[in-house]
Amino acid sequence: MGNTVGTRSADLIDGVADVRSQLYPMLLDGQWVEAQEGGESEVTTPARRGEVIARVPASGANDVDRAVAAARRAQPAWAAEHFKVRSRALARIADDIEARAEELARLTALDTGNALRTQARPEVATLVDLFRYFAGVAGEVKGTVLPAGEGQLQYTRREPLGVVAAILPWNSPLMIAGFKIPAALVAGNTMVAKPAEDAPLSLLLLAEICQEHLPPGVLNMLTGRGRVCGNALVEHADVDKVSFTGSTEVGRLVAQQAGHRLAPTSLELGGKNPAIVFPDAVDDDLIDGLLLATRFHRQGQSCTSGSRLLVHADVHDEVMDGLVKKLGDLVVGDPLDEASDMGAIINETQFCGVRDYIADGCSQPGVKLALGGLPPSDGPLSEGYYHVPTVFDAVEPNWRIAREEIFGPVLVVTPWRDVDEAIRLANDTNYGLAAFVWSSDLNRALTTAHRIEAGWVQVNQGGGQVIGQSYGGVKQSGMGREVSLEGMLEGFTHTKQVNVRLSA
Ligand code: NAD
Repeated sequence: MGNTVGTRSADLIDGVADVRSQLYPMLLDGQWVEAQEGGESEVTTPARRGEVIARVPASGANDVDRAVAAARRAQPAWAAEHFKVRSRALARIADDIEARAEELARLTALDTGNALRTQARPEVATLVDLFRYFAGVAGEVKGTVLPAGEGQLQYTRREPLGVVAAILPWNSPLMIAGFKIPAALVAGNTMVAKPAEDAPLSLLLLAEICQEHLPPGVLNMLTGRGRVCGNALVEHADVDKVSFTGSTEVGRLVAQQAGHRLAPTSLELGGKNPAIVFPDAVDDDLIDGLLLATRFHRQGQSCTSGSRLLVHADVHDEVMDGLVKKLGDLVVGDPLDEASDMGAIINETQFCGVRDYIADGCSQPGVKLALGGLPPSDGPLSEGYYHVPTVFDAVEPNWRIAREEIFGPVLVVTPWRDVDEAIRLANDTNYGLAAFVWSSDLNRALTTAHRIEAGWVQVNQGGGQVIGQSYGGVKQSGMGREVSLEGMLEGFTHTKQVNVRLSA
């Protein structure tokens, strides 16, 4: 098509009904194209029960071939640039993202159902920070020299892996793209990125912004189905690394397929994350921190959601009173409405899945439904995929709602008396992504943090990832680290050792 896409997101936001028949092309080798065989997918908004808002190409294996070939062609020249060139490009992209932040945020709200004020705008701000951070560390992609005597020069180079495939989820598409795209590019790789079927629009706009500052082929953004386009990327012989964020189920498949051809992978997968509250933790900040940790502002659709609250029995009632009140005050509604604290669940399948978990929780003997429950069946919230904040108390650790990742606004609460019991409960999961510990005794908090099997533990706070931190899971929450300089070096470069005999 070769067209530019300057006003498309604004069209989408201002007049959803006018654009239903519009096809938004994808970025391949610097061109905006349709799928070669003409396949398309509908994009829907969860705010209005899956109303169609756009169409995007459904790329096939031949489109993947073309994108990977373009990335391969572009890679040597991109890697050969002085690091300043890559740094400058990322910094300029950050400036442009910032300039178009509102557009990106509104598109994210429409696309994902995440509330504009509480989620979509902060997500774009994080994206800007990530591009700036990786622009800033561009010169750190460097090697070492071994003191091997005057007759030898023995040094290492940090070299890019080549072509990186990034497979992205729908829950925070921009932030997770920000974990991968600037990190891979700054190290001299080129990329083919694939948004999730449910949330491609904000990423197509991000690609549009990036493309202004990158040579053709350095970043390609292909829309398409996981089993087709995603699978073709994972199996492609010329993809040097697969960086995947999504469910543990698909992550396992990706690891198998990429492993078959011995391609490196990093996997950021699911979580069922504990939040342990000690009795001395109760203060004004605790409830706000716990609220942040639940990620209910994102409908609980976060892999790092502190979805299992393990609270000491002595403060259980006090904590529950405070938390239930705060969660009950959250305004659920249209993600584009400034008043909404919490938006919509991404699609019908997820909506029904969360509803089934709630029904299952309600049916457990002895369970106490402290807040919420099944979604409203009438009124404005029944017009979209809206769930309300739900809290189950007196939850037994062997129930499904305590063991499986619900990915919805559902918190399960289990009281404890002994710290060893709390840690046993915290670690009694196949997952190991994030955890939260609350205590005013730092010694106790840190000792506990060190005993928890998770890639990321926060003490006395519940917010999201911060720029430059190490981020990634253990156990079935994945492998590899992102967000930090170290993660970039480990994840997107390899070390080459060069040993030279010097003449006297
Ligand atoms: P998903 O696994 O269904 O999809 C993720 C991506 O994989 C999508 O782009 C999808 O199209 C693609 N895909 C699907 N099948 C594929 C296949 N056979 N081959 C290659 N690619 C394929 O996950 P989702 O529903 O989009 O996201 C929700 C899940 O992601 C949750 O489990 C959540 O915990 C996890 N998640 C993890 C993190 C993290 O950082 N650990 C962050 C966000 C989401």
